[in-house]
Amino acid sequence: MKRTFRKLLVLLVAAALLFGLSSCFEFLNQTTETTTVRATEPKTEPATTPATEPKTEPATTPATEPATTPVTEPKTEPATTPATATETAPLSEPGTEPATAPESGPVATGETTAEGTGEAKPKGEIGGNLQIHFIELGNYYTGDCVYIKAGETDILIDAGSKYSSVPTIAAYLNEYVTDNTLEYVIVTHAHEDHYAGFAASEGIFDLYECGVIIDFAQTNQKETAKMYSNYIAKRDAEIAAGATHYTALDCIEQGKTDFAVAEGINMKILNSYYYANKDSSGENNHSVCMLLTEGENNYLFTGDLEAKGEKKLVEMNDLPHVVLYKAGHHGSKTSSSDELLSVITPEIVCVCCCAGSSEYTKTEENKFPTQAFVDRIAPHTRRVYVTTISVSDEDKTFQSMNGNITVCSDGTEVWVVCSASDLVLCETAWFEEKRTRPAAWQN
Ligand SMILES: [Zn+2]
Repeated sequence: MKRTFRKLLVLLVAAALLFGLSSCFEFLNQTTETTTVRATEPKTEPATTPATEPKTEPATTPATEPATTPVTEPKTEPATTPATATETAPLSEPGTEPATAPESGPVATGETTAEGTGEAKPKGEIGGNLQIHFIELGNYYTGDCVYIKAGETDILIDAGSKYSSVPTIAAYLNEYVTDNTLEYVIVTHAHEDHYAGFAASEGIFDLYECGVIIDFAQTNQKETAKMYSNYIAKRDAEIAAGATHYTALDCIEQGKTDFAVAEGINMKILNSYYYANKDSSGENNHSVCMLLTEGENNYLFTGDLEAKGEKKLVEMNDLPHVVLYKAGHHGSKTSSSDELLSVITPEIVCVCCCAGSSEYTKTEENKFPTQAFVDRIAPHTRRVYVTTISVSDEDKTFQSMNGNITVCSDGTEVWVVCSASDLVLCETAWFEEKRTRPAAWQN
C-alpha cells in the first residue's frame, strides 16, 4: 500500500513538474511573442508616421487655406465683372495649385524656394518670384515709377513725377528693398515726370546703392538746364561710387542687351531707332525700351515712346505677345499705336497717370488716359489699370484709382493686386462719365 502510494506520489510530482515546465515554456513563448510584437511595432510606427504625416499636412494646409480664408475674398469681388474673369481664373486655382505644383516643380524652381521659405502667398496678395509694382507718386502730377522685384534682384524704372515724390517712392521701396541696393536702375528719358527723383537733392542715387544704371542715349536738354545738370551730377557720383553705367545705345553697341536678373528671368534692352538718332521734336522717343521675360511670360516697358518710335521698335525687334504692357506715355493719344498693339496683343495694361488732370491739356478726350488710347486698347483687353485720379484741378488734389498696382507671377500664373480699387478702367465711374465706351467694352 505504502509502495503504491509512494509510486503515486512520485507520478504526481513528475506530472506536476512536467505541467509546470510546459506552462513555463508557454509563458516563455508568450513573452517572446510579445517582445517580437513590441520590436516590430516601434519600427513600423516611426517609419510610417513621419513619412506620411508631414507630407500630407503641409500639402493640404496651404492648399485649402488660400481657398477658404477671406484673403481671396477681395479678389472674388471683381469676378462678377467680365473684365476680371481672366484675372480670377488663376485666383480660383490656389486650391488645386499645390497638387500640380510638384509636376511643374522642377521647372519653376522659384516657386518651390518660395514655398520652402514660407514666402508663398495666396493669389490675392502680393507675392510670387516676379513682382512688377506701378507706384503712386504722392501728388496730382502724372509720372512713371516702376519697381520690379525679380527673385532677390531689385530693379527701378524711372522715378517721377516731382522732386517731392522721392519720400513716397522711398517709403514704398523700403518695404521690399532689404539691402538698400537697387541692382538695376533704368532712366528712360530726360523728362521731369520720369527722372526728377534721380535729380533730387536727397534723391534715389543718394538713398540707394545702384549696381547697373541704364539710361537714355539722346536728349535735347541743355547741359545748363537745372534738372538735367542735377541728374548728370548725381548719376556720375553714383558711377564714381562703383555703379556700372550704360546708355541704351552702349547696350546695343556692346552687345550687352540681355541681363539675367534672376534665375529664369531675363531683362532685355530692346533696340530702338532713337538711341542712335536724335528726335528734335521731343524727349519721348529717346525712351529706353525693355522686355522682361520669365518662361512664356513677357512684360514690355517703353517709357514714353510715341507712334513713330513704336513703328521702329516693331521693325527692329522680334516682339512677342506680352502678358503686361506698361501703357506708353501714360495712355497718351500719341502712343500705343495699332502697329505696336497688333504685335504685342497685351493682356494686362497699366497706366501710370493722374486720370483726368488738366496738367497737360484742357481738352477732355486728350487727358490721360486718352479716348484714342482707350479705343485702340479695347479690342485687345479689358484689363486696364490706372494708378491715380484727379479730384480737383484747382486744388491739385488727387486720390487713388487702382492705387499701387502690382502684377505678380509665380512663373506660370499671373495675378494683379491693387492697393485701392480692383475695378478695371471700363468699370469705373470716371470712365462712365468722361469716356465713350468702345464697342469691345460693351458688356
Ligand atoms: Zn512721361
